[in-house]
Amino acid sequence: MDRLTGFAVSHWGADPWARGSWSLIGRDGSPADRAALGAPVGDRLRIAGEATHPTRAGMTHGAYEQGVAAATWAAGRGHARVAVAGAGMAGLAAARTLTAHGVDVVIWEARERIGGRTAPVEIDGAGFDLGANWLQQYDDNLLARLAENLGLRTVPTDFDDPLILDGPRAPAPARAPSPAAGAIEVELRARLEAAPVGASVADVLEEWLRAPGAWDVEAIRRFVDAEIVMDSGAPLSWLSARHGFEPGVGEGDRWIAGGYRLLTDHLAEGLDIRLRHPVDRIVVDAGGVTLAGDGTALRVDAVIVTVPLGVLAAGGIVFEPPLPGPHRAALSRLGMGRVEKVVLRFGERFWPVHPAGYYRVHGTADHCVSEWLDATAADGVPTLVGLFAGPWLDELWTGTDEQIAAHAVAVFTAAAGRPDEGRAAAGEHGDPPADEG
Ligand SMILES: Cc1cc2nc3c(=O)[nH]c(=O)nc-3n(C[C@H](O)[C@H](O)[C@H](O)COP(=O)(O)OP(=O)(O)OC[C@H]3O[C@@H](n4cnc5c(N)ncnc54)[C@H](O)[C@@H]3O)c2cc1C
Repeated sequence: MDRLTGFAVSHWGADPWARGSWSLIGRDGSPADRAALGAPVGDRLRIAGEATHPTRAGMTHGAYEQGVAAATWAAGRGHARVAVAGAGMAGLAAARTLTAHGVDVVIWEARERIGGRTAPVEIDGAGFDLGANWLQQYDDNLLARLAENLGLRTVPTDFDDPLILDGPRAPAPARAPSPAAGAIEVELRARLEAAPVGASVADVLEEWLRAPGAWDVEAIRRFVDAEIVMDSGAPLSWLSARHGFEPGVGEGDRWIAGGYRLLTDHLAEGLDIRLRHPVDRIVVDAGGVTLAGDGTALRVDAVIVTVPLGVLAAGGIVFEPPLPGPHRAALSRLGMGRVEKVVLRFGERFWPVHPAGYYRVHGTADHCVSEWLDATAADGVPTLVGLFAGPWLDELWTGTDEQIAAHAVAVFTAAAGRPDEGRAAAGEHGDPPADEG
């Protein structure tokens, strides 16, 4: 721990205003549930946020698009005064869009900060994120265009070229030559797509691993851990086989030097945002909408609700009248995963430099995985950002933040101490991650 000079730790699993990291489709669900959740409820209420995007869920630009769409709908109904619940990406986008349409807007935000699951944190004056890190699907991402217009510095991450650190797991048993990850992905996607309605990722995986043929079982497990466990943070027995492996990562991803705050602060400029204002009740009647929470109330013409799916599913807001059946059914078929994050700052860089800027560590137990971003380009101080998913979170994420940071450092150093031979040699002599933009 003596090499660690600063750290920050997320707690998405325990966060009452998120109740998880991002939304996912359970074994009985489909993207139609996302559309159902985002469908207007009468003329005065609409749910927006990342969970309602049929194709870009779980990502900031999807949340942004849904906020814009809901606001355009509300403005089109002629409402003069609209409330927005939540000041994350969707809420900020909704409020800005409404303002641009000349609508009077007020945001109620439960936390004492804006940004929601982008979760800005400052260490030694440098900005990082304990939530969203990358601008994904970069070429088709409205927030990426905003970042460019604002002249923000962004740094690419090549997710197709991770440096796999050996970790404490025993080497895979020798089998037939391991097919490339690409071949495993093609085969797995075909099996997932062919799965019956109601099947989970675990169902498909178990069947494949029972009769793997020439496929390398360890390579399949590692692929699943890296691409599905890491990208969902959900138990595979819950996750939909057909719809749980949603697109997003590996399409030109770039992270923002200085953090997402540079975007959210810009979006929030001039907006009427009431921090520490949790909404706990929304009453819709013929003449308008009443928001209530913490002993105060607000009367408006309409409301856009952008709180996370986890908050809605847990009954964090009581709706009167109750949400319609299709919305409640969607809430029961969607769910939240748990991916936790650490930002670790060091006095010196002790890990191998890898041009992709991206590392992966497989833990000793099944479905225990972490991925690591070398974020030194942020301000020149050696920095690692680690994302953790899987059953080991129950053990790793215990104690104080300092203890959790120490656990994370131990996982990385145990693995970085003996990286895969050839790759490490290439990495040690490679260029540092590109810093462009
Ligand atoms: C660890 C992690 C890594 C991620 N990585 C990426 C990434 O690299 N790229 C990417 O695109 N996305 C990533 N995401 C997902 C991304 O952060 C979210 O999809 C996006 O920020 C969601 O925006 P939103 O507006 O829908 O919800 P939120 O950002 O959660 O905003 C909702 C707001 O509602 C507030 N709220 C909750 N309950 C109440 C209440 N009762 N009353 C009032 N306010 C309330 C919350 O405090 C919050 O501010 C990541 C998320 C996590 C957790």
